[in-house]
Amino acid sequence: MSSVVLDKVTKVYPGGFLAVDRLSLQAKDGEFLVLLGPSGCGKSTLLRMIAGLEQITDGDLWLDGEVANHLAPRDRDVAMVFQNGALYPHRTVRGNISFPLEIARSDPALVHERVTELSKALHIEETLERRPGTLSGGQRQRVAMGRAIVRQPRLFLMDEPLSNLDAGMRTELRMEISALVRSLGVTTIYVTHDQVEALTLADRIAILNRGVLQDIGTPAQIYNDPATAFVAAFLNSQQLNLLAADVRTPQNQYVMLDFGPHRLTMPWSDPRAYAVSQHTGGQVLVGMRPDGLAPVPESYDGPSFYGRVRALEYHGHDWLAYVECGMPPVPVPEPPDPRMRATGDDQGAGALQRLARRVFGRREEPQ
Ligand code: ATP
Repeated sequence: MSSVVLDKVTKVYPGGFLAVDRLSLQAKDGEFLVLLGPSGCGKSTLLRMIAGLEQITDGDLWLDGEVANHLAPRDRDVAMVFQNGALYPHRTVRGNISFPLEIARSDPALVHERVTELSKALHIEETLERRPGTLSGGQRQRVAMGRAIVRQPRLFLMDEPLSNLDAGMRTELRMEISALVRSLGVTTIYVTHDQVEALTLADRIAILNRGVLQDIGTPAQIYNDPATAFVAAFLNSQQLNLLAADVRTPQNQYVMLDFGPHRLTMPWSDPRAYAVSQHTGGQVLVGMRPDGLAPVPESYDGPSFYGRVRALEYHGHDWLAYVECGMPPVPVPEPPDPRMRATGDDQGAGALQRLARRVFGRREEPQ
């Protein structure tokens, strides 16, 4: 087990490109830390600096309480798994997985036993005597994983190990990585640009943008209480609506937010009301996820707004209503009247208006 601390780590590539900017974070003993961010944000650079494959320009890397900036990669006791799981083509699967142990001159009987055991955990025991060229992408990544795990390093570094696989295989292998790594208790830093992967695998997620750490926390903390608008938007698989709102002077039991002509009233009982009220007279940016919105009856007195439904889309598990007023796709949690899908004729338009009233209540939007 091992801890990793980055203290104001900076990477400037030759030519002057600033890829990582004074980044500080810590991966605790046994933690599964995911580095998440868009392409080019510096995730791989960070991982490669931890592995010793890239020089640190400034700042310090600590491994297990010791500054490791200048430690040779082989002395760091880390194992890295890459996107394309580069394997030795002329060695069998068994030969690939056992390679790190052979280098370490381990007892051949123990090596045989360990590789067999690991191949069962990775569901590749049938392929042990085959060569990488005869394997599927998923099998190759399993072998790469096996080779990284086999000698139980103090730290796993994984750089998008699932990104070349199809969706089904990604989900399957994701669950297996999680189970395997957790059973070994080895500290893991895992790079991805896939939010679902990050949310499902991580103990904590660190979000990067343009080489700068934006937020770090458990998946629930980051999802429910994002530090910045970038984090909120990046973590959302559905379209997030980020709307600027004027905060009006609170009245009675409500804090009021005006989105242009539309008003959202928020009772003081809402946990966000206090934070919003701190900006009375100013503007705030409000993030609304479709899955956080629902139709309400006219009598509803919680936070609400209204709008006109422009179109409806069937998404299998629910409907999305696209609502005019700078608002988002909003899910409609019950299958609407089939006539509402017809927007061209009078009947359809009428139905849409009824839905608009039903969903967003209060009053008709002024024309
Ligand atoms: P991706 O998900 O696309 O792999 P990433 O977040 O891992 O992206 P990095 O590979 O760390 O990003 O690259 C960060 C930035 O540094 C990018 O703009 C990239 O073009 C730049 N970069 C990477 N390697 C070098 C290099 N050797 N020389 C100059 N610039 C580089």
